[in-house]
Amino acid sequence: MNARGKVVTRFAPSPTGHLHIGGARTAVFCMLLARHYGGRFLLRIEDTDLERSRQEYTDSILASMRRLKLDWDGDPIFQKDRFDIYNSGIDRLLASGHAYWCGCSPEEVEAMREKARSEGKKPRYDGRCRTLGLGPGPGRSVRLAAPREGRIEFDDMVKGHLSFDASELDDMILRRSDGSPTYNFSVVVDDAAMNVTHVLRGDDHVNNTPRQILIYRALGAELPVFGHVPMILGPDRQKLSKRHGAKAVIEYDKDGLLPDALVNYLVRLGWSCGDREIFDRDELVRLFDGNNLNRSPAAFDPQKLLWVNAEHLRRAAPETLLPELLPFLREYGLEKADEKLVLACIRILQARVRTLTDMAGQMRPLLTPAAGLTYESGALESLTPEARRHLAELRGRLAGAKDFDRDALHAVIQAHVEEKDVKFKAVGQPLRVALLGSVNGPDIAQVMQAVGRDDALAKLDRALELTTPMRQPQHQARLP
Ligand code: GLU
Repeated sequence: MNARGKVVTRFAPSPTGHLHIGGARTAVFCMLLARHYGGRFLLRIEDTDLERSRQEYTDSILASMRRLKLDWDGDPIFQKDRFDIYNSGIDRLLASGHAYWCGCSPEEVEAMREKARSEGKKPRYDGRCRTLGLGPGPGRSVRLAAPREGRIEFDDMVKGHLSFDASELDDMILRRSDGSPTYNFSVVVDDAAMNVTHVLRGDDHVNNTPRQILIYRALGAELPVFGHVPMILGPDRQKLSKRHGAKAVIEYDKDGLLPDALVNYLVRLGWSCGDREIFDRDELVRLFDGNNLNRSPAAFDPQKLLWVNAEHLRRAAPETLLPELLPFLREYGLEKADEKLVLACIRILQARVRTLTDMAGQMRPLLTPAAGLTYESGALESLTPEARRHLAELRGRLAGAKDFDRDALHAVIQAHVEEKDVKFKAVGQPLRVALLGSVNGPDIAQVMQAVGRDDALAKLDRALELTTPMRQPQHQARLP
């Protein structure tokens, strides 16, 4: 492809549902192709199905695209505003003889199809109105005078050379008897008007393409390059659905996935670049040239998606994660936590978690002051008298430590461990319980450095206080 500077792609969702994995992947491909060649990426909302289209879905699709930073050029185009344009296109085809009025009722057409079927032929409209010279009238539709023979061929960006027999296609309806334009017609009029050079879409549309090519020809419009990407399957190679863990893009947001990670994951469902898995956005724009689109369908794998997200979290600059994390901290009422502390916590956790949800959850004890810390069940109970003695002694050592950074704190703990001749765990675990309320968690010296001396000591004090053995009241001791 050497179309540098001239490439125009478009994403054309129908607002009959939220943006899902498959649609999002198509949008990502179209965006990357345009950006790679320094071209334009356009958005068209295909809302001609007035019954099934809903404003809330349009809003949701646009929000999902913004969230994934799939920024389109110019204003989106809405098909329902363009009926006049489609109708004037149909009038032009009627005037040039490429289209004709048809007076057959749906029942008559069905009877023709039935007859063809019974003769073992492909069910089709037999073209009987083509030569009747009918004009407009109630119940009349407009049909394309399609060629009866020859082949319709094109080189698909994904599937290679494709060829269809014209005799397989009948004279398709362009305008229904209620005056509305048909889907294939409006798509072609728009793609031509928007100067789209590359139509990349799911291969559920591949059978529309020969029909659309006939419309391009009739309109005298230049053909774009077509590319049909295979559908995404579930891990069981069946049609992808909710039961495979596939969700709408907005739902992944709630799960704590980073937009760049989702884009990265989606791109790899149908495109490859050697065996590389992790790409940032700039790299994708640089590398995605429309080649290496996979012919065979990819399977959606939620575990891999989490892995890709973990990789993006690990590699991200902590400052970029801060705004992403805020909504998750808000869940715990911690969105106002000190920014420097949150950044320090991000540095500690970003290589340990797979999602922002995990990150916020693990950050919670670090951001919560001693008085509000909660303890996992069994955590305080694990503080034996021996563990409490370690904590009490360490409290003294930590209070007197000259420096309160990771290395110094490690040295303090290590010195205690050596002096007492115990395993690190004997000290590390009680410390973790006191500081995090849990026996698991990140490096304890890092945690203490992040929260600072005052908070660390306050948390040790609280753990000691909560586990102070109750003095047995005298009178109880005397009971049998
Ligand atoms: N509106 C169609 C869809 O959502 C897309 C058509 C196209 O890309 O040509 O499947």
